Amino acid sequence: MKIEFLGGAQTVTGSMHHISYNGGSVLLDCGLFQGRRHEMYEKNQNFSFDPSTLDYLLLSHAHIDHSGNIPNLVKKGFRGKILATGPTVDLCRLLLKDSAFVQEMDVAWVNKIRAKSHQPPVHPIYTQADAEACMPFFHAVDYNQVVDLGHGVTATFRDAGHILGSAGILLEILEKGKKTRLGFTGDLGRYDQALTKDPDPLRDLDILITETTYGNRVHPAGHDPEEELAQIVNDTANAGGKLIIPAFAVGRTQQIVYHLHKLFDQDRIHDLPIYVDSPLAVKATEIFRKYPQYLDRATDRIFLKDHQDPFGFSRLTYIESVDESKALNNLLVPAIIISASGMAEGGRIMHHLKNNIENPKNTLLFVGFSAKDTLARKIMDGMPVVKIYGEEYQVRAKVKILEYFSAHGDRKNILDYVHYSNPNKLQQIFLVHGELEQSQSLVDAFRSKGFLNVTIPAPGDSFEN
Ligand SMILES: [Zn+2]
Ligand SMILES: [Zn+2]
Repeated sequence: MKIEFLGGAQTVTGSMHHISYNGGSVLLDCGLFQGRRHEMYEKNQNFSFDPSTLDYLLLSHAHIDHSGNIPNLVKKGFRGKILATGPTVDLCRLLLKDSAFVQEMDVAWVNKIRAKSHQPPVHPIYTQADAEACMPFFHAVDYNQVVDLGHGVTATFRDAGHILGSAGILLEILEKGKKTRLGFTGDLGRYDQALTKDPDPLRDLDILITETTYGNRVHPAGHDPEEELAQIVNDTANAGGKLIIPAFAVGRTQQIVYHLHKLFDQDRIHDLPIYVDSPLAVKATEIFRKYPQYLDRATDRIFLKDHQDPFGFSRLTYIESVDESKALNNLLVPAIIISASGMAEGGRIMHHLKNNIENPKNTLLFVGFSAKDTLARKIMDGMPVVKIYGEEYQVRAKVKILEYFSAHGDRKNILDYVHYSNPNKLQQIFLVHGELEQSQSLVDAFRSKGFLNVTIPAPGDSFEN
């Protein structure tokens, strides 16, 4: 068996690992590398293997850094099956088309500039038509269903507790009479998070490939994050300002809405209007409503058993049209605006930031992980002046960070993941999906638990068993 770490190695985007065995091969995730424009085109355009030789793509979850290069994989000749949970399939239909749309818009803008200097036009990595063309290759699997991949290999998806339908994947590979249990965490969720169930760890592993997004962080404990959220909402309302929350359209938005709904029902926040300004979030929320059985018991207890919609209440308005979105700029009363993208790298959140960042009455609240060099990270790091669409803005609004709402497990969760594996059996741990400093901080921690072979593969590295 051979593992090749093709993407999401020493970085958080572009998750992709190639596993070959007994004459067969699968890909774990097919994520889009995200970063600066020229790098993004360069790194995503071509694959270092022939996609037509793959038997399967096993997809951990729908986030673009895990699924975003699938249309290109199919365009380049993949004809196998894509296995993912039902919610992941539905979310991919939405997110891949959106990703194609964003690329088409971006390319149109770039080509306008290129035309002026008589340079030939560039093309998107894939189009909306490509995004549609890859959907027939998807096949939904249930959690815990053992799927025979042929060549003596089975795959089992277990709830990763990260976003709706997210999975850790167990491969059981029988080669020369020896069975190897290889586990891939995908993105590992956190315990006691709203909406998602707790992660269901893969046990008794021989090889583990784990994400390390928060490898050097322990989420603050011992306080009530809902109370903190309530405090931020009420302080902003008392100041007569607006609360602007950049949030991923899938997962984080629904979680924040859930908490606000609960706080509103319990009279713990002021009665101010709440807007979810993201057409993508509106459609994603429909998919959350379609799969109540994937949500956790607390959601069931608090909302579903009384036939309440966790994602809808009287003070909440979902906004799809551009005109309604623009009208929010003229709002004079305190309000909460939740909008995408979560890292503030595009989308409608940009005009809300532009309009609100210089007013000290307002609060900008960050609730998820933000990669290096993104606008969200710059504001979170306390930069006094930031550029938005080429213009400079003073950061005068209050800046708050509620890490609790991150959908990634922290250092402790990552280390606990091996709790059900024996150090004598688990021979190799590979740390991926993290910036180098986050991964490095885990190497010694794993070693002190008795797991001696801990590696941070670089992109292109391979391992043979
Ligand atoms: Zn994710
Ligand atoms: Zn990820």
